[in-house]
Amino acid sequence: MAEQELMEKIVSLCKRRGFVFPGSDIYGGLSNSWDYGPLGVELKNNIKQLWWKRFVQSREDVVGLDAALIMNPKVWEASGHVATFSDPLVECKKCHQRFRADHHLEAIHKWVISPNEFPKEKDLPEDIKGLLICSVSDPVHLRQHDLGPAKQFNLMFKTFIGPSEDQTSVAYFRPETAQAMFVQFKNVLDTTRRKLPFGIAQQGKAFRNEITPGNFIFRTREFEQMEIEYFIPVPTVDADWNEYFELWRQDILSWITRDLGLSMEHIHELEVPREDLAHYSKRTMDFEYHFPFGVKELYGLAYRTDFDLKNHERASGQELKYTDPETGEKTVPHVIEPTWGVDRTFLAVLCEHYKEQIDGENKRVYLSLPPKLAPYKCAVFPLLKNKPELVAKAKEIYSQLASHDSLLPVAWDDRGNVGKRYYSQDEIGTPFCITVDFDTLENDTVTVRDRDTAEQVRVNLDELVNYLNEKING
Ligand code: ATP
Repeated sequence: MAEQELMEKIVSLCKRRGFVFPGSDIYGGLSNSWDYGPLGVELKNNIKQLWWKRFVQSREDVVGLDAALIMNPKVWEASGHVATFSDPLVECKKCHQRFRADHHLEAIHKWVISPNEFPKEKDLPEDIKGLLICSVSDPVHLRQHDLGPAKQFNLMFKTFIGPSEDQTSVAYFRPETAQAMFVQFKNVLDTTRRKLPFGIAQQGKAFRNEITPGNFIFRTREFEQMEIEYFIPVPTVDADWNEYFELWRQDILSWITRDLGLSMEHIHELEVPREDLAHYSKRTMDFEYHFPFGVKELYGLAYRTDFDLKNHERASGQELKYTDPETGEKTVPHVIEPTWGVDRTFLAVLCEHYKEQIDGENKRVYLSLPPKLAPYKCAVFPLLKNKPELVAKAKEIYSQLASHDSLLPVAWDDRGNVGKRYYSQDEIGTPFCITVDFDTLENDTVTVRDRDTAEQVRVNLDELVNYLNEKING
């Protein structure tokens, strides 16, 4: 299947089945914003819950946090975001359309440059300046752009706190969740008495006024992150922090393959070259996924040294140190930061698990989602909807399953024929379909059909919950 075609099919399935809708749809949308519909919210929550369980609840060395979206603006001055969280922007002098200069050069001229390194106009080599200012054809509007010089554009969303809209009331929506973990480091340490190494984890929204959002939910201006700041003892040699870096690298890879079921063939680990590292990082590794529109960043892993805690110590005047319980020595811990984007995870999961199969005359579309991620774990149908005794029995089974904590949520479907219902559940990734037929009334057994193999087995009603539980959580 052509990559472009795959992307169109996924976007169409998302809208048709209620995974993702265009934001503000009835008003014509709003610049690549998207809303998660009834099935999308389930899949997204399942991703977040699985992550939280794996990286917070089942680990002794990680605790959680849920901080405010708008923090004191001094946080963003200390972190360097006010001064440097920007991308290079070019604007067409004729139509005033704006582009990210590095993306534009890469797309049009295959010239790859890190946005951090983008030179100021006066420093641009003449030939590159020529490329930027030269007319570039716009495939959409079939006209020539006349691009002006590149300038830095800060990506933080500004707002005002309180009733006056002046410089003193300016605040920012957080562009990442990470800073709250540094700002609350001392409170968390004092209340949990954790020993190094330990991590603080957070999930939540982040906002970036991206110059060119796009590729469906891959790059949006409002998105969700799952991040951990993992505090380690001050390293004496590089091997000390590298050891933790490697442990997190393995954890990320295991999450990708084991929990999300993504194939390693579609994953590319990029060691970010020294000259492209962000100002706070001594080493960064990007985990890229082979999306239909190219190999792009899915997650990141960075060694942030003691950059953040030291900066916040300086700016706030508060001590952000860890006291060794044995020696009493006070130090500023160093930090390894693994970071995950929720929306990019959602998209990678859909791209990976979207499957088409020719089934006789028909084409079957199914999402081979890991059962833990599937919006519905199973669906219950009466074989015939005009037989009240079958409907009553199926409803009884549905209610029992739906009220069973470990199996929620369960779908009910009595429209069309059973074949159509199977296809409909396949398309949204429901791993098991349970059909109640006349034998059920006789011997208390049901047919359980497996989404991926389409195989059917007969299961006793009193074993059904265990059977499903084992398959789902197994
Ligand atoms: P990119 O280079 O693609 O702009 P980034 O390196 O700026 O990403 P980070 O600052 O490392 O991204 O953010 C951590 C994670 O947050 C990313 O790996 C990605 O999964 C997610 N993310 C970042 N920006 C966006 C966005 N605009 N839309 C959706 N997810 C995003």
